[in-house]
Amino acid sequence: MAKLTPMMEQYLEIKKQHPDSILFFRLGDFYEMFDEDARIASRELDLTLTSRDHGKNAKPKEEQLPMCGVPYHASDAYVARLIAKGYKVAICEQVEDPALAKGLVKRDILRVVTPGTVTDAACLDDRAGNFLCAVCLAGDRAGAAFCDVSTGEAHVTVVGGTETEKRGKNPRSKSAEPEPAGNTDITGNEGSVGNRENAGNTDSIGNADNTKNAYNTGNADNTGNADNTTNAENGEAVDSEPVPAFLEHLVNELARFNPAEAVLNQAAWDCAPLRAALDEKFHCRTECGPDRFLPGTARENVQKQFGEAALERLVDREAALLALGGLLHYLYETQKTDLSHVSELDIYGQSVYMELDLAARRNLELTQTLRGKEKRGSLLWVLDRTKTPMGGRRLRSWLDRPLLNVTAISRRSGAVEALAANTIAREELIAALTGMGDMERLLGRVVYGTAGGRDMNALRSAMERLPEIRKQLSTFGYPPLRLLTERVDTLSDLADRIGRTIADEPPVGIREGGFIRDGFDAEVDRLRHILKDGKGVITEMEAKEKEATGIRTLKIRYNKVFGYYIEVSNTFKSQVPDHYIRKQTIANGERYITQELKDLEHSILTADQRVRDLEQELFAQLRAELSAAAPRIQAVASAVAQADALAALAAVAVANRYCRPVVDESGVIEIHEGRHPVVEQMLKDTLFVPNDTFMGEKEQRVAIITGPNMAGKSTYMRQVALIVLMAQIGSFVPASSARIGICDRIFTRIGASDDLSAGQSTFMVEMTEVAEMLRGATKRSLLLLDEIGRGTSTYDGMSIARAVLEYCADRRVLGAKTLFATHYHELTALEATLPGTVNYNIAVRTRGEDIIFLRKIVPGGADRSYGIEVARLAGLPRPVIRRAKAVLKELEAEGRAPAVQKEDSAAGQVSMASVAEAEVAAALRKCQVDSLTPFEAMSLLYEWKKKLEG
Ligand code: ATP
Repeated sequence: MAKLTPMMEQYLEIKKQHPDSILFFRLGDFYEMFDEDARIASRELDLTLTSRDHGKNAKPKEEQLPMCGVPYHASDAYVARLIAKGYKVAICEQVEDPALAKGLVKRDILRVVTPGTVTDAACLDDRAGNFLCAVCLAGDRAGAAFCDVSTGEAHVTVVGGTETEKRGKNPRSKSAEPEPAGNTDITGNEGSVGNRENAGNTDSIGNADNTKNAYNTGNADNTGNADNTTNAENGEAVDSEPVPAFLEHLVNELARFNPAEAVLNQAAWDCAPLRAALDEKFHCRTECGPDRFLPGTARENVQKQFGEAALERLVDREAALLALGGLLHYLYETQKTDLSHVSELDIYGQSVYMELDLAARRNLELTQTLRGKEKRGSLLWVLDRTKTPMGGRRLRSWLDRPLLNVTAISRRSGAVEALAANTIAREELIAALTGMGDMERLLGRVVYGTAGGRDMNALRSAMERLPEIRKQLSTFGYPPLRLLTERVDTLSDLADRIGRTIADEPPVGIREGGFIRDGFDAEVDRLRHILKDGKGVITEMEAKEKEATGIRTLKIRYNKVFGYYIEVSNTFKSQVPDHYIRKQTIANGERYITQELKDLEHSILTADQRVRDLEQELFAQLRAELSAAAPRIQAVASAVAQADALAALAAVAVANRYCRPVVDESGVIEIHEGRHPVVEQMLKDTLFVPNDTFMGEKEQRVAIITGPNMAGKSTYMRQVALIVLMAQIGSFVPASSARIGICDRIFTRIGASDDLSAGQSTFMVEMTEVAEMLRGATKRSLLLLDEIGRGTSTYDGMSIARAVLEYCADRRVLGAKTLFATHYHELTALEATLPGTVNYNIAVRTRGEDIIFLRKIVPGGADRSYGIEVARLAGLPRPVIRRAKAVLKELEAEGRAPAVQKEDSAAGQVSMASVAEAEVAAALRKCQVDSLTPFEAMSLLYEWKKKLEG
């Protein structure tokens, strides 16, 4: 092997420290990549792969090193693309001026960009947090810490432990649970500044997992109709579980933050199901780093970053402390920069937020649709009328973390009510928020050192909105909103400081200078003047010297030998002042220099570099001042984010005619004229038919919902869950009135989907979800089961469906509020034997071969499925439909399928007239009278009349 060039030696030395990152090695105006890094980058970024001799005498092809490069000024986009593909990129810069360097230029890694720590706007969704997480499995507990470096937000929690989980054991204990702290924050848990702890209760953190207890102590043999053998089977199934019992809870916590990257301790790394979840469910970059999770360093780092108080709260929560320590270790390792904006820690317990598993989040389409993975069509799409990115992120975090505390919820919904009631002030507030910049992320970039002049100005413009926001907010008398108003410090001193320092239209980067405002610094002005008008400055000096000496022919000239000099003709030689230093005699005169002229010359020749250095210095001072004020700015940004999110909820509530729900500990769900918030927005040609719901703790706890395909069973069930969830984030709900008893969890088993990438068939996925549901649910949970047992043979499926239904219904085992949609009409018979169970169906009418969906939920079981009719509507070929009917007849004749009942005898059908009336009333409510032309109004009247007359 030929001897390496010094530069390649330097490269390899640096690469050795970051073997798992793609190294961007700065060479002049390019970042170059070598060897395997170059191969990856050329493949992922479509760059041309070239090669380079890496040894002094090396020429053979095989010894040439593959390389590729990107121009440094365009590097951000390339880094962003690699990050999006899950790579880490180490940025190696020249840390001394190549012009001044003796020998090889010094180089060093200035930062390592990773998916979980990226701050570049191009890599981030401005309406979602970007979280790095650290997981530490320690015995029977797991600590999970999360940080969004772009905003400075940090959270930590513990799951598992030996305590019995309150949810499972003592469902009523919630009422005794202290209100979450952060109570300086009007809306409950988030956004409070200062060392906040949301748990507010020392016992809730480190909550035990209740799964085994709930299952095994359930005495399944007492389940009435349940088959006794299921007890043993259930017990076995749980006991043989190879994964830590708290893993489900841990994954649910991860789901709240959807991390982009995870750092794991050895035990977490060795836990295959956890790794699989991170990989397959979150598509998250994972890395193991046992050395990052050492107790001593963890303590030191936590204290350094968050202070003594945070450390004290974590000392007896070892797993949380270690996870947080690991997270900080990774941040220090990769960021090598100021992280002082990461200063507030939210330590939350397991009973502060409603727990939602991934299946529920997906099935309820909270932030994206199940199929297209788009925001449009999700609950967030309906609710997110926020005007600022920070408001958008805050609203999303509320959706990710519904509350369990009645007081905290009521503070939020009270604020929404106040905002909804005062349209003028609300609209003014919304107008003030509209277009406001992202203070949180701008500040993040400032502290981080990646902000430019334009970022500073954007921060200033955002700050300049604050007086108006404060003014509009102050019109609301509701005490929590007043509190919020007080927290909107107008930051005028900082806005003014930025305004005085930074020019109106600064260049994008700060490398080239030109961003300091004229008039801010006398030296910058002088240097700029020299730079811009070097000749003018000389002419000025010439005029000054002429005047001072009285030498009319005095001239200042330039040559390469002396630089600038003063030339005086022989006639005036005697008038030359003493401080002139003679340099040369020429035919008709003399040439001189002066100290002042030499200083000026120096200024002219070096002005360019000096003004750049000075501008950097002034920028750094401004940066330092803003960084020092970071907690103040963050507090304001948090208040604005809340105001924005609350105003958005109020605006949606008014526009969509929502009502404020009563949220309490009653355990009852009572909804009048409830609607599905998303479906009602999506329907174009028809109107959404509202439905009522009642679910008590004892009576009507379990609803068996039957009805034809397409009738609206899934919509109805989801609508109930979404209304509960909306109520628990403090939102108004789509109903005419609602009373919601707090639910600790919502579980869903909806729709058929397989997870082939995870090696699971449709049926396996279904059963896994049901298993998780039955393990995790408590009496305070809301369960949605849509068509379980369909992926297997009829009798297996029906048996499973029945057993699950019985399990859910039995208060001695579970007794959770359950909505159970099924096509197994035989199950409706359970109403008579299972206490707390009630049958509902979604009414339809048939007219000849046509089926009319009435969308009304009515008591009683449905008579049949109308599957063939719906198949006909869907366009199945006529021969297939005819054959299906014949087969059905045969089966009925053989007694293998329940005979079709006559239409008139169908249980619980509602009259067509009442449905028509409801539709017309809904249309009337929805119609914007002011925007109708007389003709349109007439047409509508005709249409409605026709509908009422049938
Ligand atoms: P399947 O048994 O085939 O799964 P389903 O009974 O669950 O059907 P949904 O999927 O809930 O039926 O509803 C079918 C369609 O009916 C929805 O996409 C929606 O457009 C419409 N729909 C449901 N409920 C209502 C309602 N209350 N008002 C108006 N339209 C509705």
